[in-house]
Amino acid sequence: MKTTAPAAAMLLAVLSTVAQATPAQYEGPLFDTHLHYNQEAWDGNTGPFPPSEALARMKRNDVRAIIANSRPNAGTQTLAAARETREAGVTVVPFVRLYRNRDDYTNWFRDETIYEMVQAELARGTASGPYRGLGEFHLYDSADANGPVAKKLIVLAEQKKLAVLAHVDDVAIDLLMANAPSKGQALRLIWAHTGIGGPPVERVRALLERYPLLMGELSYRPGLTCEGGRLCPEWRALILMYPGRFMVGSDTWVNQRWSAYDETMRGYRTWLGDLPDDVAQRIAWGNAATLFGLR
Ligand SMILES: [Zn+2]
Repeated sequence: MKTTAPAAAMLLAVLSTVAQATPAQYEGPLFDTHLHYNQEAWDGNTGPFPPSEALARMKRNDVRAIIANSRPNAGTQTLAAARETREAGVTVVPFVRLYRNRDDYTNWFRDETIYEMVQAELARGTASGPYRGLGEFHLYDSADANGPVAKKLIVLAEQKKLAVLAHVDDVAIDLLMANAPSKGQALRLIWAHTGIGGPPVERVRALLERYPLLMGELSYRPGLTCEGGRLCPEWRALILMYPGRFMVGSDTWVNQRWSAYDETMRGYRTWLGDLPDDVAQRIAWGNAATLFGLR
């Protein structure tokens, strides 16, 4: 068919309207900074997400590195050693989880045997190299940040330059930082969900300013996305103000999150598309890669 010049011009006009109507998506690599490989995902014998299944999900979403932690730590050890991990080209950054079982969630901060377990695990390391952090841990009551074992672990983390992945509220961020030898100036604290209770953006901003190494991981963060899964204006402004301080993660805390892994990563790609390319790349990959010395 012969296309006349006016028809071609019209076609171009239509195509450019379509391009404008379809917002950009982030297309680059992802660093999943909040990944659990818990017992129920795969206990070594059964379970719906053996390493081949977990790694297939990462690979098809272009997740090239992960902060791996698990209850118990055997899951992380498995991922760190798996042939499938190497074949998928996924870099494992292992963290020591403080939980052997469900009871530990509400007791770890005062249980000496947790401190001993962490020491033993750190000494053991993983097939993907030494542990690089502690966590994820939870504090359901901020005051437990001052529990004797919580205090010792924070000192240990700062001294050994281990990052800490903490699911806590904004009050506990101040308490944990106060317990670090540097008073929070040298502790690499990753704030899981950047506050799952949704402290105001202004409060998050103030904490980022006070603690230079505080990083915000953004899974489940209330108020982050608005209509159509796009970035809410106040969050876009905050991220642009602190482009080096945010990261994304899957938080596969239950098997349902493994089932929804593709959807979670698509969601990130959607709102990352609302940011300038260089900022999107840092949130998706660069900030975590820098933190752990990956290329
Ligand atoms: Zn988690």
